[in-house]
Amino acid sequence: MYNFRVIPAKENIFIETKNRFQDILEDFKHYAETLTIEAGNAKAKSGKADSYTRYLIRLIIFYEESNNDELSDLTSFEALKKIEGIKYIEGFKQFNQESNRFYSATISCYLAYVTYKNTTDDELIGGELDNLSNILSDKEYSVREEQARYLVNEPKAKPDKGRNSVISSYPRNYKEAREAKIRSNWTCEFNQQHGTFINNINNNPHVEAHHLIPMAAQDYFENTIDFADNIVCLCPTCHSRIHYAVRAEKKEMIIELFKRRRNLYLRHGVEINEKLLLNFYGII
Ligand SMILES: [Zn+2]
Ligand SMILES: [Zn+2]
Repeated sequence: MYNFRVIPAKENIFIETKNRFQDILEDFKHYAETLTIEAGNAKAKSGKADSYTRYLIRLIIFYEESNNDELSDLTSFEALKKIEGIKYIEGFKQFNQESNRFYSATISCYLAYVTYKNTTDDELIGGELDNLSNILSDKEYSVREEQARYLVNEPKAKPDKGRNSVISSYPRNYKEAREAKIRSNWTCEFNQQHGTFINNINNNPHVEAHHLIPMAAQDYFENTIDFADNIVCLCPTCHSRIHYAVRAEKKEMIIELFKRRRNLYLRHGVEINEKLLLNFYGII
């Protein structure tokens, strides 16, 4: 039974919880600061990041005391899911409203943080799907019709994580990336007029594969998100833009790309809406 209430920062349980998660809460606060700076909120930034951190501590307290469960790794989607579940508890909605919706904003910030913490090197440009998928020659793909049958077209459980790096990551399915490129007709999906160059390996215009729902968020879902319907092909500039642009530019791009694909996710057993997608990109 949840007992939503105001928990002052000087209460023992608050101080204890804060001390237990000290390092990770500090890290979370720094992350929240970068988000609020990006949102053009420099003045209010430190105050807001402080608030998010305090509200996260309270959410942890609510979860732990009500479920008789101790959270361990706050950077895991397992912990995120537990905290996020509080949103659906009776009485939360009103309590959140009375708190100027700070609790729900904190959960969004925490989700962005967990996604950020689960981002691995192979998400970064260059490492992303473009090496192996280009090596498969077009000849191999003359049997494309045949292979298309093996592409993911229905909900499919996610594979086991690879254990070859500090943060383990999921193996990528290069056939899906290749299929996405073929479907895009080797053009930039954000704007088909964007010029690119001819790729040395496959002799097609060079486009780069990008998972619209980032692979870092795989643990949020039961089913795989590594399928062609979730892979957008972008010219190198647009690929950099979706990773590194300022918030407004990034947001516009994600919304535009998602509009064209939003109806494709359900058949893969993946529930996603615009707000959640933006959240994975740190836009809260
Ligand atoms: Zn990318
Ligand atoms: Zn482009």
